[in-house]
Amino acid sequence: APVAVDWVISEVVDRTRTTAAARRIQVMADSGRGLTVYGSDSQLATAVANLVENAVNYSGEDTTVRITTRTTDDHVEIAVADQGIGIAPTDVDRIFERFYRADQARSRSTGGTGLGLAIVKHIASNHGGRVDVSSTLGGGSTFTLRLPARPPDDLLATLPAAGIEAGPADLRQV
Ligand code: ATP
Ligand code: MG
Repeated sequence: APVAVDWVISEVVDRTRTTAAARRIQVMADSGRGLTVYGSDSQLATAVANLVENAVNYSGEDTTVRITTRTTDDHVEIAVADQGIGIAPTDVDRIFERFYRADQARSRSTGGTGLGLAIVKHIASNHGGRVDVSSTLGGGSTFTLRLPARPPDDLLATLPAAGIEAGPADLRQV
């Protein structure tokens, strides 16, 4: 189903408002600019909320978290940027694994289980998209969720007809 990016962002801001305020972190978000993505509204909100929760948990007080959107060649990108502790190059390849937590995170009081990003990755791939990170240790992180700007049906319609006709002729006895 079509999902309004505006809705996703306002939902995420609502869900994370209290924790952000408690840590004196200002969340700035663009409106979503009327963009549309496709899939499950609740799953997409969960994915972006996980990114914002991390941004808040792994940042110091009096910093800013920015949620921005943009479009690139047939994709919508939702980026969550923080001014937090950052991620070491040796950890950055592993943080999407279930239960993996970097040392800097483990030593912090905010104890998580290490599942949030695995869930984000799963939701992204279920929606034909992906999640990327760019980070500097001590210099903050930006996570980008990249989603198709077209419904899956449109993609199907562009496939050559022969490719989607898998009739009995394709079945072999084994
Ligand atoms: P959970 O989300 O299950 O409560 P978690 O936050 O530790 O626990 P993930 O969200 O999967 O787990 O993140 C994995 C690890 O990646 C974190 O423990 C932390 O080391 C690192 N990480 C994730 N987001 C950030 C961020 N914005 N800044 C710095 N490190 C981060
Ligand atoms: Mg997390």
